[in-house]
This record gives sequence, C-alpha cells and structure tokens, in this order.
Amino acid sequence: GEEKKNEKVYKVGVDTTYPPFEFKEGNEYKGIDIDLINAVAKDQNFKIKLTPMDFGGIIPAMQANQLDVAIAGMSITEDRKKVVDFSTPYFDAGLTVVVTKDNKTTKSVADLKGKTVAVKKGTTGAKYAQDNASELKIKVVQFNDSPAMFQEVSNGNADALIEDYPVISYAIAQKDLGLKTVGDRLNGDQYGIAVLKGENQDLLKKINDGLANLKKDGKYDEIIKTYLGE
Ligand code: GLN
Repeated sequence: GEEKKNEKVYKVGVDTTYPPFEFKEGNEYKGIDIDLINAVAKDQNFKIKLTPMDFGGIIPAMQANQLDVAIAGMSITEDRKKVVDFSTPYFDAGLTVVVTKDNKTTKSVADLKGKTVAVKKGTTGAKYAQDNASELKIKVVQFNDSPAMFQEVSNGNADALIEDYPVISYAIAQKDLGLKTVGDRLNGDQYGIAVLKGENQDLLKKINDGLANLKKDGKYDEIIKTYLGE
C-alpha cells in the first residue's frame, strides 16, 4: 500500500571484506556485523540496504549523506565522535602487531625500529602507526583493504602490519597466511554502530534498543557463536 512506498530504507555502510564481521559468500553478505544489523532492523522494524565500500570511504560517505548507518568493525574513538554518534559498544577488539611466522626478531612493537609497517587507510591501526611513526622509527605504507595489507607482509614487501586482533586471528585460523601475531594488544578498541552526528537520533535509539534486546534474548550470543564458536 501507500505506506510501504514511502517507507525509509536506511543505507548501511559495511567494509568490503573484513571477516568475520563482513564478507561475501557467493552473492550473499555474511558476518557478525551483517547478522547483527539485520537482526536489529528486524527487531526494531526498519528496512536497510547494505553498501560495501573501502573502510576509509565510510565516514566521508556518511558526511556526504550517502549512508545513514555504518557497521564495519568500526572502533569507537574520540576523533570519530566529532562527526558520528556511536551506539553502545557491541564487541571488544584491540590492535595487534602481525609479522611472518618465521620472524624471530620481532616480539613487540618496540622491535619495529627501521621497519616498514603496512596499515589500512582510515583505521585506528593506521592512526596508531602514524602517531607513533617518529618515536618507533617506522615507515608506514597504506592499503585500501585488509587482504591487500595481509598480502604485503606475507610476500615480504612489508615487515609487519597492524590489524584488529579478532580479524587477523580469524584470518590466520581460516587459512595459512604465513603470519602470526606478536606482543600485547596495543589498545582496547571497542566496536560501535555509527550514525551521522546529531542526525538520526531516533534511529540511534532504535539501534541501541535493538542491540539490548538481542543481548537479552540470546540472539547476540547466537550470532557470535555462528562465526567464532564457543
Ligand atoms: N576497528 C578498526 C577501525 O575502526 C578497523 C576497522 C576496519 O578495518 N573495518 O579503524
């Protein structure tokens, strides 16, 4: 009927490829973020359309009003809070250093002096590397997506990379990338769902209510278990 025609469909930005949070299997999007936003939308009775893009493009696309929402393993940061409003945190992550499996000299971030470190554009990993580049004496090289960044270290073009711990651990468990994590986690990033700052407060409330309901009724745990096991 008339109502359906005018029903708002929220455009949701997701990272192009970021398993276990978002990835494509055939033509289908899968992952923790995909299942979560679909479940929140169902619980709160709103419609969404997924829009995959390079992570670095997501916040600019929100500011250009091309996206209403972002769920992309996106860490809640003070910098981003200047331009977006975040939901309550839905996942604990944090950054880690990654090197090739046969690397015996790099045991922590302090051993990266003089090394080339690969990062992904616009991420907290990129910011960490850039902020600490002169102190750590590292050269930072940037990539658009995580697989390209992993490849750079696997093939020896870069000495190390910085990535979210749950993402690189999942990638390493899925296939032999010849990589390993080293040292302590560099921070305690938490993921949040973002909407453009000051706008969409109703939508943000629905997202928070939906997340709370999914945590209460076990659906959140079920989604996590689907991708990460017990
Ligand atoms: N959690 C990191 C960030 O927010 C990386 C996200 C991503 O690569 N999709 O910057």
